[in-house]
Amino acid sequence: MERLTSPPRLMIVSDLDHTMVDHHDPENLSLLRFNSLWEHAYRHDSLLVFSTGRSPTLYKELRKEKPLLTPDITIMSVGTEITYGNSMVPDHGWVETLNNKWDLGIVREETSKFSELTRQAETEQRPHKVSFYVDKSKAQEVTKELSQRLEKRGLDVKIIYSGGMDLDILPQGAGKGQALAFLLKKLKAEGKLPVNTLACGDSGNDAELFSIPDVYGVMVSNAQEELLKWHAENAKDNPKVIHAKERCAGGIIQAIGEFKLGPNLSPRDVSDFLECKADNVNPGHEVVKFFLFYERWRRGEVENCEAYTASLKASCHPNGVFVHPSGAEKSLRETIDELRKYHGDKQGKKFRVWADQVLATETTPGTWIVKLDKWEQSEDERRGCTTTVKFTSKEGEGLVWEHVQQTWSKDSTVKDDSSWII
Ligand SMILES: [Mg+2]
Repeated sequence: MERLTSPPRLMIVSDLDHTMVDHHDPENLSLLRFNSLWEHAYRHDSLLVFSTGRSPTLYKELRKEKPLLTPDITIMSVGTEITYGNSMVPDHGWVETLNNKWDLGIVREETSKFSELTRQAETEQRPHKVSFYVDKSKAQEVTKELSQRLEKRGLDVKIIYSGGMDLDILPQGAGKGQALAFLLKKLKAEGKLPVNTLACGDSGNDAELFSIPDVYGVMVSNAQEELLKWHAENAKDNPKVIHAKERCAGGIIQAIGEFKLGPNLSPRDVSDFLECKADNVNPGHEVVKFFLFYERWRRGEVENCEAYTASLKASCHPNGVFVHPSGAEKSLRETIDELRKYHGDKQGKKFRVWADQVLATETTPGTWIVKLDKWEQSEDERRGCTTTVKFTSKEGEGLVWEHVQQTWSKDSTVKDDSSWII
């Protein structure tokens, strides 16, 4: 968050499973549409927060399976763990708050008396979250009985039933809603209260997100019955909460548009980039657009025509250099020429490219350095590299690519590959 010098323009707080991630879409199209919108229009001045019921272990697994961006803040284990940045630094203030009227030993003891409860995997048992599976038909009765027993033992807990099967027991002060409220208070104290906040969810444990004052909310089209029921009973007159017509991340994009929170046209929804000129100089946009073009080129989704390569070459400096992750260097224009050979080589294959953490800095007037993580998914292999691009811009002309340097990312599954193009 240190990179932000003023209040974020938009903070998106999104659930992951069946909200940001559509498990019914093996192509991950709505997620990829969201990714390019976020990186091109929001990353530089906004905050991305993931709020998931997943424990750190399962969250990391999901990140390996799906093309998820790196969030600024991660809220895990149903709002009981808040971490910051890439390195996921925990919020100790939040841990202190959660210790109030909470005793893990007592919760374990009392829950062991219920035969209807099936304990979830060890990785899902966290310092401030105890999780079980319970049949839908038994959920209400168990919740009532258990909360009475825990109260008698002096604890103040919250029991959340979600997804028609998961039962989580948390400290009363925890949950996705309270974690968000804590975060907003903290940002306000730092003078960085977001101009707008949009909460996005699909199931019961997301309801709390929509109860925080001044927060916009979107229930994606595929939201579960339990959340829709909660909405009908508690928030149907709140114009700041909508039930989207589109599924998952598509619903998030729809809400950005409906609430007029900023640009809502994903670069992935633009079919011809030659037609798409940004209103002002935006080097981050240039990079997102290029890698999208690169994906379409290799998938054979854009025509193999001279106009494209000519336009790309024209935007490269004549002496521009590309440094391959292996360390080999060649000229940028040569690299574009080489790209011609690869037109359609990934046609009909599982091949996607996305940019993560695109950040542009104007080092001197007219000179920009853009840093990003570029990812390439090819069948089941994922390759990533940290990319640094130097651009220059002259008055009245577009941006010129001067230098591109790539190094393998530490999370890449392949670190030595001569077939890597750019
Ligand atoms: Mg969900």
